[in-house]
Amino acid sequence: MTLFDSPAFEGHEGVHAFFDEKSGLKCIIAVHSTARGPAAGGCRMWPFSSAEAALEDALRLSRAMSYKNAMADLELGGGKAVIIGDSHTQKTPALFEAFGQAVEDVGGKYWTAEDVGVSPGDLMHARKHTRYVAGLEGHSGASGDPSPVTAEGVFRGITLGVRRALNRDLDGVTVAIQGVGHVGAYLADKLHAAGAKLVIADVNEHALREVAERTGARVVAPGAIFDVNAEVFAPCALGGAVNEDTLPRLRAKVIAGGANNQLASPEIGRAVYAHGILYLPDYVINGGGIINVAGEIRALERSEAFDPTWVESKLARLMQTLDEVLDRSKAEHRPSSEVANEMAKARIGRAAEQKAAA
Ligand code: NAD
Repeated sequence: MTLFDSPAFEGHEGVHAFFDEKSGLKCIIAVHSTARGPAAGGCRMWPFSSAEAALEDALRLSRAMSYKNAMADLELGGGKAVIIGDSHTQKTPALFEAFGQAVEDVGGKYWTAEDVGVSPGDLMHARKHTRYVAGLEGHSGASGDPSPVTAEGVFRGITLGVRRALNRDLDGVTVAIQGVGHVGAYLADKLHAAGAKLVIADVNEHALREVAERTGARVVAPGAIFDVNAEVFAPCALGGAVNEDTLPRLRAKVIAGGANNQLASPEIGRAVYAHGILYLPDYVINGGGIINVAGEIRALERSEAFDPTWVESKLARLMQTLDEVLDRSKAEHRPSSEVANEMAKARIGRAAEQKAAA
């Protein structure tokens, strides 16, 4: 497979490969679009089986960031970095310094942040060679853990979905949450405070116990969360929760959660719609986290302090966008997943035209 033949290639503006002999850094930075502003998206460190696999992930994830940032109405494009390596055994300060130099070499077209396998501490090393780093700690523009903001967006999205699908508020509604990690645990607290009944599953016993004690949630085995009699299914663990095997088992009327890539395929999006289930597109409903990161980029660019009121205004706007996606899906009798993709592409396309005309 070559770059331009990859199914994940979609008009990417730039794909940069870096190798640093001294530190052993092997990294790819993919810039999907800068039409709306500099590309932003986290850096993932993962022991990819091949350079092709790393490239495919970088292409796919950077495109997803363009869509997510556009739907969150941020003046940011989409990009992503992947470092090939095991984050448990191969991390060194020199590796992340070399990564910082790679980000710098992209010339301000890409802002990096944390993702799987990368911590704020790692990014401090990258910061020695570039200013295009968000997700740092200990400065006035720092945005902190994005999970509570992600969870707040998901909570508001679930409220919206339940109102639309069931014409009621959350009091007494049963929500099945798959994964009570950072996002899922904050979400559970908010739903519990709103009177929802919770059923939770996780592979981490400790996380389960803590959330169950705080919220009175009923605990089920990880494989049983799809069979629960709940009005809402909230995937907050890994991708692909809604697939050919699980969809026929779901009894929920609403699918709305924090996880990325909830639908195993575009076909599943159509099947969800055909089942009469209201699906709140993942990269729209979980946009709170990137809004929070964008607040930090904005603060750093302006040499100002982080402004939570700006974040709140963007989160409120995100909920309007979510409502618009669902309105259009209903009016046009089409899956919300397709409507969201179309809206995101149109927003990016309009920005590209404006940029070209300027
Ligand atoms: P996390 O690692 O803190 O939580 C994930 C939880 O899922 C963990 O507790 C894990 O044990 C559990 N889990 C793993 N496999 C499971 C399984 N088979 N069944 C049930 N539980 C399982 O991660 P997080 O930060 O809470 O993110 C959760 C999801 O939301 C991810 O898909 C992430 O990409 C997405 N997301 C997170 C943010 C954020 O702000 N943290 C923002 C946008 C999207």
